[in-house]
Amino acid sequence: MFENQRFVMTNLYIELTSSCNLRCKHCYNASGASEKELPLKLLKEVICQAREGGVKFISLSGGEPLLYGKIWELMDYLNDMDMFFLLITNGTLLGRDVIQKLIKYHCNIQVSLDGPDSDTHDAVRGVGNFERAVSNIKELQKSGFEGNVVIKGVLTDNLTEQSIQKYRLLAEEIGAVKVEYGWLNRTGRGKENYGDLFIGEDRIAEYIDTLHRNQYKDERLEIADIGYTDKCPLVSIEENPLEVSPKITYDGNVFPCQMFVDEEFALGNIYKQTLIECIQGERFLKLLELLSLRREFMPACQHCVYKIHCLRGCPALGVNQGNLFECDEFCKVRKREFAEKLCRKMSI
Ligand code: SF4
Ligand code: SF4
Repeated sequence: MFENQRFVMTNLYIELTSSCNLRCKHCYNASGASEKELPLKLLKEVICQAREGGVKFISLSGGEPLLYGKIWELMDYLNDMDMFFLLITNGTLLGRDVIQKLIKYHCNIQVSLDGPDSDTHDAVRGVGNFERAVSNIKELQKSGFEGNVVIKGVLTDNLTEQSIQKYRLLAEEIGAVKVEYGWLNRTGRGKENYGDLFIGEDRIAEYIDTLHRNQYKDERLEIADIGYTDKCPLVSIEENPLEVSPKITYDGNVFPCQMFVDEEFALGNIYKQTLIECIQGERFLKLLELLSLRREFMPACQHCVYKIHCLRGCPALGVNQGNLFECDEFCKVRKREFAEKLCRKMSI
């Protein structure tokens, strides 16, 4: 933990490389458009700093992290440092050789599956990639891999409220322990294809309803709720120390969380500063100050009947809609929840 205890880092999300073998239509950082990667020596220093700052858990992402030139040296290093990690992969490169190497590491694996079958998944990720990913996960499960497999899908027209059951059956078939849903981020190729892929706020609300109606309890499989938020943890100024889970991009920028993408919100860069300097620096304090102003100054909230109770959702998603003072895409969901809570108060 830092000396002044104002912040504590919990997780660290690292985009190791911009390289990717796929060109998914919704990719939030347009992976594959360039070939940049973080030098291993620098990464090792940053991981040491992260550990000093309280991090126990690291997410390795990209691009496709298995294309990172020094991936095995990095995993060895994490193992030596006793740091647990999550490998976030598109699953297509988990061939036999890779699996044989992977099984010695203490890690979990998250595989992106954007639909329950080839028609749906491949429509976003390219032909043949569903079969590749699924058969690789099955091989991995047979190999003696001791970590957990999580599957995560981005909500688009390919992963709809009608496919919730099918997606769960797929998770069971491949031995996943958890299903997670992410939303379309309006950045990178996600921005280019937003008009085609975004399902709309009403459908998101419907999806959440369907998910709740089909609540499924099994101790072997957890179905996570759609991870939208009402209150950004970064505005919890009363929390002391404040928990931060920063992201480092493949060009070295440090962001306060995974969802910020625009360089304007970078807290610093690991090529110029230590991770701890980025988190403790002036830019972060200024950003936190700006975030605290959102509640008062968001134009769309001025006439909203829920403005007293609403904590204004995710600022990073607001930025993607235009600027820091815009709403994220979950107002309809929030409003419905507020209304339902009020109605429940009336029921005897
Ligand atoms: S900006 Fe959004 S993603 Fe980042 S911590 Fe806040 S709510 Fe979470
Ligand atoms: S529900 Fe949306 S419009 Fe209403 S106060 Fe919250 S963020 Fe603002």
